[in-house]
Amino acid sequence: MTDIVHKGGCNCGALRYEIKGEPGLVLACHCLNCQRQGGAAFSVNLIITEEQLALHGDPKVYVDKDTDSGNFAYRHFCGNCGSPILTTSDLFPHIRVIKAGTLDERTGFAPQAVCWTDTAFDWGAELLKGIPSSPRNPQL
Ligand SMILES: [Zn+2]
Ligand SMILES: [Zn+2]
Repeated sequence: MTDIVHKGGCNCGALRYEIKGEPGLVLACHCLNCQRQGGAAFSVNLIITEEQLALHGDPKVYVDKDTDSGNFAYRHFCGNCGSPILTTSDLFPHIRVIKAGTLDERTGFAPQAVCWTDTAFDWGAELLKGIPSSPRNPQL
């Protein structure tokens, strides 16, 4: 595995993380849950394995039961400042989904795939046009 480490964290610094190596996929998501959680038109997510992640701090976890697949999503966020940091799912227990906006870096990590265009803002879908997309959950 590569020695590259990407760092990030929440607004207040109570949660910090390191990602070893590169994400397997950078996935933009237009689902309603991501929109509500981030307060944004869509989220950009780094798909990594649990072995790649070192998380420092003690996140609060919201169990999101309102998912299309019926599998619970566990939304880890900072209980102090509210920043969403990562999501886990019963469906993919060894996968960690990191919110790209919490990275320290501002270079790279452009979305390679897009999902949930069914619930995208019209201009949000337009912004990411040309990237392979799925109307709902991605075929990973
Ligand atoms: Zn915080
Ligand atoms: Zn989503």
